[in-house]
Amino acid sequence: MSYTTQKGGCLCESVGYKFNQSNVISAHHCHCKDCQKSTGSGKATILLIPADALEVNGEIKYYSVIGSAGSHISRGFCENCGSPLISFVEENPDIKFIKAGSLDDSSWVSADSNFFSSSASPWSPVDEDIHTFTHNPDFA
Ligand SMILES: [Zn+2]
Ligand SMILES: [Zn+2]
Repeated sequence: MSYTTQKGGCLCESVGYKFNQSNVISAHHCHCKDCQKSTGSGKATILLIPADALEVNGEIKYYSVIGSAGSHISRGFCENCGSPLISFVEENPDIKFIKAGSLDDSSWVSADSNFFSSSASPWSPVDEDIHTFTHNPDFA
């Protein structure tokens, strides 16, 4: 794996972000109902990264919901085009979750585990080759 600068952003290009790939902590598929609703898909694939390693340009709008563990999840998106981009747990804002699909090039992403297999839909099944949590591991 080569550690290079990775870039991403929303569909209308009002919001962009970049980070060094070496700062990515882990990657996960989340099949929770909130991720399904907010992405309009079977799951969200997210990258965990320290907040101070992520540079954002443009205005992100956040919508806050109560997560399964009672914490507050802020889901960030572009106010203009609606693309989901970056989320975080308000009780732990030092870690950001990047929606992998918003990367300009996501071909290098490799998910470490699945979250919320309990709510996975039959048409978007969990990846059986990696570790699976039926609900939430610890942070959201
Ligand atoms: Zn946009
Ligand atoms: Zn989720």
